[in-house]
Amino acid sequence: MTALFVKCFLFTIGLCLGSFCNVLIHRSTAENASNRSIWGRSRCPHCGDFIRYRDLIPLLSFWLLRGQCRSCRHPFSHRYWIVELFLAFACLGMYPLLLWGETLNYVMWVVVVMGLVTLFFTDLEKGLLPDTVQMPLFLFLIIGTTWAAPHSFSSLLSGLMAGVMGWGFIWVLNQIYVIWRHQEGFGGGDAKMMAWMGVFFGWRSMLGIFFLAALLGTIWGLILKIQKRGTWDTQLPFGSFLAVSAGVIALWGEFLWRIYLANVIS
Ligand SMILES: [Zn+2]
Repeated sequence: MTALFVKCFLFTIGLCLGSFCNVLIHRSTAENASNRSIWGRSRCPHCGDFIRYRDLIPLLSFWLLRGQCRSCRHPFSHRYWIVELFLAFACLGMYPLLLWGETLNYVMWVVVVMGLVTLFFTDLEKGLLPDTVQMPLFLFLIIGTTWAAPHSFSSLLSGLMAGVMGWGFIWVLNQIYVIWRHQEGFGGGDAKMMAWMGVFFGWRSMLGIFFLAALLGTIWGLILKIQKRGTWDTQLPFGSFLAVSAGVIALWGEFLWRIYLANVIS
């Protein structure tokens, strides 16, 4: 009974955190700087009307209002409920960490998933990876890593090294791209994303994440080219590919590495 209660509680918390991610996605990329604050009541992006408190219940409000604004009936993006449900299942799925007594690890994972989901959509929808999301994440992970191993300076140091390597890797690639194509290949946001992910995932996982993201980007670019919807110079949301790759490597990294070793190296 207690376990069921805890699971329901985590699912509900996840829905609320997903709702917060939606606010971050919308406000951190707002064109008008005065709309970027995370404080203040939510408004309909179409008519600008305040959204009533009773219409802010995650998932339920979207379903009851059939995904429309109560005032102007303009449809809201399906992204709202997808993000809420995704975070709810993520919070529930990582429940074993709490059973093993790894509460801090659980909190760090939840925050990292929130960051990845938020940046996936900001890059996909607006082509932006905002500092207002990435900087707090970076600081939080530094503090979290230190807290997890307060007497081990090496874990913080290796995390920071992985972060600097991740950032530097993108920077060097960008310089090569600028010399080769006379334009930026990667944005500063991609480098910052590599930096905070490096602190959390470590440099070994970062190699896998980067190469998987590059592979996904190449396949995506080819599809656009074949469908004549893009050229070789079309900007791709590399941050979104990084976010997907981080999820894949976190879940199946060891498995993919074993396949790689067995089939490619030998
Ligand atoms: Zn409206």
